[in-house]
Amino acid sequence: MQGGEKDTIAMTLRVTSFASGSSGNALLIHTQDGALLVDCGLPQRRIERHLAHAGLHPSVLAGIVLTHEHGDHSLSAGALARRHKVPIITNRPTAEALGGAVSGADVRLMPVGSEIALGPFSLRSFPVPHDAAAPVGYSIRAAHWCVGIAIDLGSWDKDVLEGLRAADLVVIEANHDREKLRAAPYDWAVKQRIFSPRGHLDNVDAGALLAQLGADGRRRTAWLAHMSERANSPNIALTIIRNVLSLAAVGCIELHALPRNAPLVWESDRHMQQLELFY
Ligand SMILES: [Zn+2]
Ligand SMILES: [Zn+2]
Repeated sequence: MQGGEKDTIAMTLRVTSFASGSSGNALLIHTQDGALLVDCGLPQRRIERHLAHAGLHPSVLAGIVLTHEHGDHSLSAGALARRHKVPIITNRPTAEALGGAVSGADVRLMPVGSEIALGPFSLRSFPVPHDAAAPVGYSIRAAHWCVGIAIDLGSWDKDVLEGLRAADLVVIEANHDREKLRAAPYDWAVKQRIFSPRGHLDNVDAGALLAQLGADGRRRTAWLAHMSERANSPNIALTIIRNVLSLAAVGCIELHALPRNAPLVWESDRHMQQLELFY
C-alpha cells in the first residue's frame, strides 16, 4: 500500500448539511482533526443542537466560513462567533455588508480567489455570479479529499467550473424549474431576480455544469442544494438533471437532493452519501 492510500484511509472527511434552501443553509465539514462550518444561516440554538449531535462543541470550530451576506447564509454567524470565540472567515465586501451583525467577532479576511489553511483544511474561494457584495464558492481540501461548494449563483462560468473541478463531493444549487417558476405565485420582480444571471441556478443549468465536470469520467457525488419549495421538487430536479447528464453520456455522478430541513451526511471513506438522518 502506498503512503498516500494509508493517509486517505486514516483521514475520513465528513460533510453534513444541516439545512438547505431560502429558510437557512449550513454545512459542517469535519475530520478527526478539526471542523468548520460553511454558512451559518439557521438560528444559533439549531446550529448548536446540530453540532452537539455530531459530537462537537461550537468552540472547537476552526472557523465559520461565509459564502455571502444574505440572511439565509449568515443569520447566526456573528452570535455564534462571539459566544464561542470562533473566527468568521470571509472577504472584505461581505464583512462590510454584514456590518454590525459581525461586530465584536474575530473576522478574518480572505480575499476572493485566495487560498488559506484553516485547521486541517485548505480552503480556496472563487467568485460566483449572485446579487450580493462579493459572493463566493469554496473548494475545501483535507487529506486527499475535496468538497466543492457553489450555492446561490445565477449562472456559472469558468471560475465556477474550475473551482469545483477537484471536488469529490459537489454541493451545487438547483434552485428552480423554469416552467414552475414562471407559474409560481411570485411578483414578476421577484421572478426576474431569481431568473437573472446573478439570481439562482435552475435545474438545467445545474445539470449542464455537472455534465461539464463529469466529462472527465471521475466518480463524484453531487448534492443538489437550495431548492425552491414552490418552484421545484426533488423529483423534478433529479429527473431533469439525470436527463441532462444522460444526454451528455455522463454516468459517473451520483445525485442527491438536499433536504430543506433535515441533515444529510457524506463520508469520504465510503465515498457515498449516507441515509438521511432525521433528528
Ligand atoms: Zn440563499
Ligand atoms: Zn443569496
